[in-house]
Amino acid sequence: MDRPEQLALPLGIPPDLSAVFRRVFLRLRIKSPITSIDARFHPFAGLRSTVTVRHGTVKARVSDLLAEASPLVLEGLAEILLARVFHRRPSREARECYLAYTFRPTIRVQIDAARRERGSKRLLPARGRHHNLEEIFYGLNQRFFQGQIPPSRLGWSHNHSRRILGHYDSGHGTIIISRKLDSPTVPRYLVEYVVYHEMLHIRFPVERRGHRRVVHSREFREAEKKFPKYESACRHIKHLCA
Ligand SMILES: [Zn+2]
Repeated sequence: MDRPEQLALPLGIPPDLSAVFRRVFLRLRIKSPITSIDARFHPFAGLRSTVTVRHGTVKARVSDLLAEASPLVLEGLAEILLARVFHRRPSREARECYLAYTFRPTIRVQIDAARRERGSKRLLPARGRHHNLEEIFYGLNQRFFQGQIPPSRLGWSHNHSRRILGHYDSGHGTIIISRKLDSPTVPRYLVEYVVYHEMLHIRFPVERRGHRRVVHSREFREAEKKFPKYESACRHIKHLCA
């Protein structure tokens, strides 16, 4: 239920977050030698907030999706974040006030939109320096899936992740491949194998068995082995991730 507890703030004057955090810090009577509090809004991809304490400074970054939330909601979040770093339990009021706000339908819509827009910018174009993911996807789709896999967004990751070489984001229908593979020393069949694996995630979506999520089902594993040079690809990947 939406209560009219929220006063519209004049546009263009975001609340002074540091002041909100200072107020809550004093109210919680935290006995820690803190010399300054630096709290600001930040355009995270979703409803994220971070907090750290270093050299006597509390640094907090709060999702800018909350820039129009009421002071009460912001104080609730400040309490949750401060409690996290100072090993306390936030009050029930704080948690409820913050959660109630974030579950409002209008806010959920904004969160989803921000995820979509901002999350998508974290991709580099599919045509890499050495390998073209679109071409690879298209070829694999014809060879192994009778062209049945719906066109997906494809891109290289911004970071050179060694542990995660590929990822299928079902929320955005996006296949992301680690930029580490866009290299002249990585043979094309290896990139193909990683893209093939992610395409299988589209072909065999996550199954639920009771409380368990089965990400790589038996059918998935069997289909994976149909990739030519499957074993050599596995060995190569182990080597790359080592
Ligand atoms: Zn997988």
